[in-house]
Amino acid sequence: ECTIIKGKPVADRITEEVIKDVEKLKVSGIEPSLAIVRVGENPDDMSYERGAVNRCGKTGINVVNVVLSEDISEQEYIKEIENLNERNDVNAILCLRPLPKHIDENKIKNIIEPSKDVDCFSSINTAKVFEGDKTGFPPCTPSAVVEILKYYDINLSGAKVGVAGRSMVVGKPVSMLLMDENATVKICHSRTQDMEKELSDSDIVIAAIGKAEMIDSKYIKEDAVVIDVGINVNSEGKLCGDIDADSVMKKAGMLTPVPGGVGSVTTSVLAKHVVKACRQQNGL
Ligand code: NAD
Repeated sequence: ECTIIKGKPVADRITEEVIKDVEKLKVSGIEPSLAIVRVGENPDDMSYERGAVNRCGKTGINVVNVVLSEDISEQEYIKEIENLNERNDVNAILCLRPLPKHIDENKIKNIIEPSKDVDCFSSINTAKVFEGDKTGFPPCTPSAVVEILKYYDINLSGAKVGVAGRSMVVGKPVSMLLMDENATVKICHSRTQDMEKELSDSDIVIAAIGKAEMIDSKYIKEDAVVIDVGINVNSEGKLCGDIDADSVMKKAGMLTPVPGGVGSVTTSVLAKHVVKACRQQNGL
């Protein structure tokens, strides 16, 4: 019998901790603040922004919304980020990505102040993820995966983890974070020859390939824990993950749903990172 492990209780627990931390900071006269920088009106960006604004509202974090026109030049965008880097009333900066093609992300990632970079855009924070340096900010989605596994008491030490996907947003960082938890990690990707064979001995599978319902029960070991990071639309026009849930539920021990799984935990991790940035900047 497969247990559906939801994100909400995980997000609720993190949110409660953040509320307490923010209250303590406010008693000392400090108000944590997040700037969200959006270019244009991309519906995905706007939906993530709404979620982040709601979560911050619940926790008492102040939000500064910076909305820039689609045709903003790279130079002007850099100025906006530099301005936020300088502002003492902004502890954290979230640049909604991907940026429009004419703005070079490889340039911007080295402009954003690493101590305010709460979603691991900067190379410095990426390096910290790979070095296992806990003073940085891993990207929110992989952190959410680890939070879910820990909340549901899933043993990571010595566990065989199969990760599907090698992006800088999910696959690579989640592999590093799980290796830090002493898991034995195998990373699969689009050129992996036989992903079914590679994944099917894993105790835990993390799916982050962006292919609607591609991974069915053949890829999954009996009783494995399956974390579905994918957000896709299937042939019936319904929101779905990378996991074929109907099939995998017949074999897995635990599965995160889509929606209601990993995606519902990311903004609480974001809020946690904002508090961490604020505390660090205030020498706490
Ligand atoms: P990406 O397109 O950058 O990377 C996809 C990765 O999957 C690549 O490394 C590629 O090698 C691999 N891949 C593609 N097709 C494959 C195949 N057939 N077999 C094996 N590997 C294959 O995507 P991403 O940004 O890493 O996102 C992955 C998924 O996670 C997407 O569905 C995205 O929408 C979702 N996502 C969800 C959240 C969240 O909050 N839940 C956050 C970020 C991304």
